[in-house]
Amino acid sequence: MPPQPEDLLAGLDPEQREVATALRGPVAVIAGAGTGKTRAITHRIAYGVATGVYRPTSVLAVTFTTRAAGELRGRLQQLGAHGVQARTFHSAALRQLQYFWPRVQGTELPRVLDNRMSLVAESAGRLRVRVDTPRLRDLVSEIGWAKVSNVSPEDYPRLAAQHHREVSTIDAETVGRIFLGYEEAKRDRGRIDFEDILLCTAAMISDHPEVAEQVRRTYRHLVVDEYQDVSPLQEALLTLWRGDSSEICVVGDPAQTIHSFAGAQPTFLTGFARRFPDATVVKLVRDYRSTPQVVGAANAVMSVAGASSLRLVAQRPDGPQVAFSEASDEASEAAGVADWLETQHGAGVDYRDMAVLFRINAQSPPLEQALADRGIPYLVRSGERFYERPEVRQTLVTLRTQVRTADAYGGEGGSALDQFKALLGALGWTEKPPEGAGAVRERWESLAALLSVAEDLDAARRSTEGPALTLVEVSAELDRRAEAQHVPAAQGVTVSTLHSAKGLEWEAVALLGVHEGSLPFVLATTPEEVTEERRLLYVGMTRAMSLLRVSWSRTRNGGGNARKPSRFLDPVLPASMRSGGGPGAAGPAARKGRGRGAVLSVHCRSCGRGLNDGAERKLGRHVDCPSTFDEGTLELLREWRRQEAASASLPAYCV
Ligand code: ATP
Ligand code: MG
Repeated sequence: MPPQPEDLLAGLDPEQREVATALRGPVAVIAGAGTGKTRAITHRIAYGVATGVYRPTSVLAVTFTTRAAGELRGRLQQLGAHGVQARTFHSAALRQLQYFWPRVQGTELPRVLDNRMSLVAESAGRLRVRVDTPRLRDLVSEIGWAKVSNVSPEDYPRLAAQHHREVSTIDAETVGRIFLGYEEAKRDRGRIDFEDILLCTAAMISDHPEVAEQVRRTYRHLVVDEYQDVSPLQEALLTLWRGDSSEICVVGDPAQTIHSFAGAQPTFLTGFARRFPDATVVKLVRDYRSTPQVVGAANAVMSVAGASSLRLVAQRPDGPQVAFSEASDEASEAAGVADWLETQHGAGVDYRDMAVLFRINAQSPPLEQALADRGIPYLVRSGERFYERPEVRQTLVTLRTQVRTADAYGGEGGSALDQFKALLGALGWTEKPPEGAGAVRERWESLAALLSVAEDLDAARRSTEGPALTLVEVSAELDRRAEAQHVPAAQGVTVSTLHSAKGLEWEAVALLGVHEGSLPFVLATTPEEVTEERRLLYVGMTRAMSLLRVSWSRTRNGGGNARKPSRFLDPVLPASMRSGGGPGAAGPAARKGRGRGAVLSVHCRSCGRGLNDGAERKLGRHVDCPSTFDEGTLELLREWRRQEAASASLPAYCV
């Protein structure tokens, strides 16, 4: 039975009720984490449907990540608002494009380009501009920024100067020309890129009144969650979707802006009331999600100059104190997290109500190992699962086949460990490749990790009087571990980056790797970038409902320079544990200006030679020069580059 309208208002506080009953826009809700913004808008939609004011199919709710869109859909279903569209900007736009493009252009919609690196390289090559991989990556992300910021190739040089943008010593004129060449090459190949999905939709609506009319007739009520992360391009699309109507409701939290590097502009949220003087503007301050302990710690982290956030007032009863933990290295940190999860599980918390969050995907392998060691079910929310890597899958399949035909060996081939090594050798596992060997090195490390599982099993077996380990057992153990990460979403611990966790909540949350170099990330050096990293920590902390554990490790793997806990933890750590600054706190001396990449003529702090590589310039030195940065931090940097290169065309938070 569909819910009664009054039932939909029953679980709301007076301010949330004001939002839910303001069925006519414009409406803006500006409020902190866990104050019920998403709850207020889903109830508003459901209330509009239940009262008959909205036809369900005339409502379009948009947000930024597929997961957040899924969360919206789930909540709407529960409230009986079936048929309402809840999508990411990109999926909503792509749907419109797929429908209208053939009708308007008379051709199939061009395919979406899945990696634009090669086309950008081609364009640079035509202009005889030499680009190495880091510069290429910088160019690709700069073109992305320009496109979401509505900056054309022709306007790029002028606007880049205005926004203090700079790309690895390539002058703005040349960047503009490379950008233009890329656009032409893309068109010649009949492809569109990720931003084009929004750009083409916008163009289609603005150039074709009949399309505009139909879109606006279909979606009469627009609702935007996480509006603080809207880019100028997305804002332009919203305006086109809306037309003359002011049927728009936006909610967001300026303190949770974590995508400004990609063009997000929280000023669209904070300036909403100025643009719509008749808007209903509601502020929510009661935090319903987290205990006073979690809220207090999150408030404290944000209680510094420049990190403006609305102070949250906890509504829930007291819970346990926030736990802070320093480990000697990453493996013991991961083991500590796994122990903690097991303890919470023992105390009655379901694994599905727990999450482990970290800054970048490269931080997950030690954790995955620790979870697999204990058989804790988990699911990786972004990035590639260890046991899904091609080389790992290939090894497991080969091993299974070998085990099945094991009779053929009649026990030959030495110990299980020797046989397994031979199998890895047959798969091309040889000498350890040098650092910097990229994919080859990654593949080697994956296989080394598999071997270490077998070695651990073997060592455990030797310590008992039992029979020798067999290859069948190695295979079974690896399969069991692979299984452990394939649990249905409803059953396992969520393992995710901080960016992908936005808008979600769990009973118990562990934040991993909260040290200088990771949070703030080593490449965040301008005050704006560092503040954005602080907000990222705030987003992470406020995902916890009752139990929050924050950890870091002193070294990556037992050696090298000591790491310090994140400076952001200073307000919540006892004096003896604080960072007192940390590497990168000062940033390269020659840094000037504002905005991302606003750097002029930086020289390496170690050897004094000029720095050409954008990433190294942020670091302030050549990766290979001796310095105060420990190996773990440098590895993070390398990993970051690899990831950026891999995800250059599809920002992970959008798809
Ligand atoms: P975020 O900024 O992290 O996206 P949010 O403001 O969207 O947070 P919600 O996710 O809507 O917050 O709500 C946080 C939690 O508080 C949810 O579990 C929600 O069900 C609960 N909640 C919100 N409002 C109330 C209320 N009035 N009474 C009880 N629980 C509430
Ligand atoms: Mg929300």
